Parts: sequence; structure tokens; C-alpha cells
Amino acid sequence: MTQAGKLSLGCIADDYTGASDLANTLTRAGLRTVQTIGVPADDLALPEVDAVVVSLKSRSIEAGLAVARSRAAEAWLRDRGAGHILFKICSTFDSTDAGNIGPVMDALRADSKDAIVLVTPAFPETGRTVYQGNLFVGSVPLNESPLKDHPLNPMHDSNLVRVLARQSKNKVGLVDLATLSRGADAVRAKLAELVRAGVGAAVVDAVFDRDLETIGQVALDHGLSVGASGIGLGLARTLAAGKAKSAAVNAVTSAAIGGPAACLAGSCSQATLRQIASAEKVMPVLHLDPEQIIAGRDEAQRALAWAKERLGAGPILIASSSTPDEVAALQSRHGRDAAGHAIEQAMADLAEGLVQSGVRRLVVAGGETSGAVVDRLGIPGFLVGAEIAAGVPVLRAVGAGEGQMVLALKSGNFGGPEFFSDALALMP
Ligand code: ADP
Repeated sequence: MTQAGKLSLGCIADDYTGASDLANTLTRAGLRTVQTIGVPADDLALPEVDAVVVSLKSRSIEAGLAVARSRAAEAWLRDRGAGHILFKICSTFDSTDAGNIGPVMDALRADSKDAIVLVTPAFPETGRTVYQGNLFVGSVPLNESPLKDHPLNPMHDSNLVRVLARQSKNKVGLVDLATLSRGADAVRAKLAELVRAGVGAAVVDAVFDRDLETIGQVALDHGLSVGASGIGLGLARTLAAGKAKSAAVNAVTSAAIGGPAACLAGSCSQATLRQIASAEKVMPVLHLDPEQIIAGRDEAQRALAWAKERLGAGPILIASSSTPDEVAALQSRHGRDAAGHAIEQAMADLAEGLVQSGVRRLVVAGGETSGAVVDRLGIPGFLVGAEIAAGVPVLRAVGAGEGQMVLALKSGNFGGPEFFSDALALMP
């Protein structure tokens, strides 16, 4: 943190999972990071953090609405003293000629009064590289990747200078890899030249991890940048340089909470099925009857009564998960969406009941299931903590109505066979 109480970095993410990915990346790089769900209330009490990632769902909505929501997030972050704003987009530059990357960038740039904005979706460690302004997904250009068939924003042009120019009122230029390889000052000189030529946004090449660090350094001369978790990593490494990284992050998140712990599984992925089987050896497991849930019977209440009898003795797990054959059979009887929705709501009922029964340590398996649970619990945001498994951090709820709480939210195939025990071990 540059100054007591002030954010070093404010991020506006155009979707939730991208926001989590960025929050996790920033935390791993040594910034104490909170992810909020939507633009937080003005009075949200935050712990001492370096970065906040505001999660929006603005990637595919009407451009004017995306601009309005992004500016509201920006105002909140600037109010908290954010010295730099990162507008976090997808690393495959998901957008159409109508937006929303260009319109949001234009509006935020007007607010930040930057002469020029650095733009790059590159993240070499995940195979996203940019060369001569062309985005590659693995070994193929964007327009030959599966993104060419994306249902909402098919990407037919891999040249981001052209793609962005079609969406933006700003003239768009390029900082190429040769310039970048000569270091931060060479990039600064190139940007100055572009500004003199009337360019307001520069796509920046990046092929290697180290390129992100150069970009991060230079981006911090400005009030705004646009990119994916890769540029987030570059910014974070620059901001966190010299800080005692793990100590800073762990000190905030590892304080014990104690009390009853529970796990909920709504994912039917193979990994989750294996993890449930392992959990059976170490904790009581209740398998819900999905048919009863859909029939509207009080399956959740029955499960809650079962849980209450056992919570005092140690962690418990309640699962709706079934094998692919059983899932398919249920879906053919009731329809996929109706079955999924009913079970998600039962899981949310259960989470609410468990929290009312004193549970403050909650592990949830399943992406949609986690979304339903978090919405029901009304948690406005999370402080990101230690990593349980790749991409799955411990989350400490901030501003939650029920007091201190830690969660682990795992989607689909994440985590090793002992995931539930591994998670609880990091959630004392
Ligand atoms: P994942 O991260 O593995 O995709 P999700 O929670 O996102 O998990 O999705 C799982 C979906 O399956 C949810 O909508 C959930 O309600 C639904 N579901 C859970 N159990 C069953 C079941 N036994 N039969 C059918 N659908 C189920």
C-alpha cells in the first residue's frame, strides 16, 4: 500500500470468473486483494488491502450500460484512492465492433485524463501472446482459434489494432516487441511519439513473461490500463516489488475463525465425484435425493436437520452430485435448466440454514452452485487468501452480515482427490 488506507490498484472486471482469476493472480504476486461482487456500497468496510477487483457482468451487455457500470466502479475505486485503474477484459479480447472494450476504455480514459492508454490481453503463461498487434491463442492467431465460433462475440480478426479501432473513438497505435525488448524507457519514448501523432490507445506486444513486467512499469506512469490477468501480473509485480509477499498476504487471511465447518457439493464433475468418495472416509456425508428436491419436498430441511445433529462433532458434507447417467436421466425427466435451478436453490437454502446454525467455514463445489450460494448469503466481496489447489484460493468474506466467514468456492474439475480436507485444513 503506497499510503495508509489508499488502494495501489483498482480493477474493473467485465465478468465474474475473470475477476476471480485476476484477484488470484494479484494475490499470488503479493498484493492483498479483495474481489467485490458488483459495485460495492459506499460504506463497505474493507480490511487493509492493496487492490480491489470489482466484478461486473458487462462483457456482453449494451455498450452504454457497460460504460455506466464501469464508470460507477471507477468512481468507487478512485474514492478509495486507487492510483491506477486496470480495466480487466478477457485474454481473448472478447468483444464486437459495438464494444464493449472500446467504449468503456474511451470513457475511463476521458475520466483519467491520460494522454494514452496501454492495452494488452497478453498472458504468455496461459498461451495468450501478442506480436505486431496480432493476438495468438496458443500457436494459432485469434481468428483461427475456437473464438472464431464464439456464440456471443465471434472473433474474426486477430489484429487488435484494427479490432480496437473499430470500437473506439481514439486513434489506436502499436508498441511492438522490438521496442518493448529495449526496455521501459524505449516504450515511454514510443508512447510519446504516438501521442504526438494523435494516438490515444496503444496495443502493446508481449510474448514473454518478462514483457509483462516492462509493461506494468510503464503502465503505472498512467492512470488507466486495459488488459487481462497478464498485465495485472505486470502491474502487481511492480507494485509489490520489495514487499514481503507471503507474509503480507497470509497475515490478513490466515487468522483462525473456528466453529462448525460444512461442505456442499453441487458439481457432478468427475473430480468432484472422486473428492466426495475420499471425503466419505473422513467426515459424515449425506447424499441428497435430487428427485425429492425437484418434487419440492423438504429435502433441504431434512438435510439441515441431519447436519445440525453432527456439526458439533466436526465437518460434514452434503452432496447432490450424481453420476453422468443419473444426471442425464434426471434431466430427461425434468429438463436440464429446471433440474439445475431447483438443485442450486436447494443448495442455497442449505447454505443459508447452515450459516444460521453457526457455520462460518464453508466449502462449495460447483461454479453455478457457488454463485447461487454467494448470492443467497449476500456476501458483497472476498479477501483472497492462500491457494488450496491451482486456481482455488481461500476466501474471507468482507462486509458479510453474519460476521467473519471463510469460504472455498471450487468449480468443476479443480482440486486434487482430497480437496475437501485440503480446503478445511487451510480454513482453521
Ligand atoms: P461445475 O462447476 O462442475 O460445472 P456447477 O455447480 O456449475 O458445477 O453445475 C452443476 C449443475 O448441476 C448445477 O446446476 C447443479 O444444480 C446441477 N446438479 C447438481 N446435482 C445434480 C444432479 N444430481 N442431477 C442433475 N443436475 C444436478
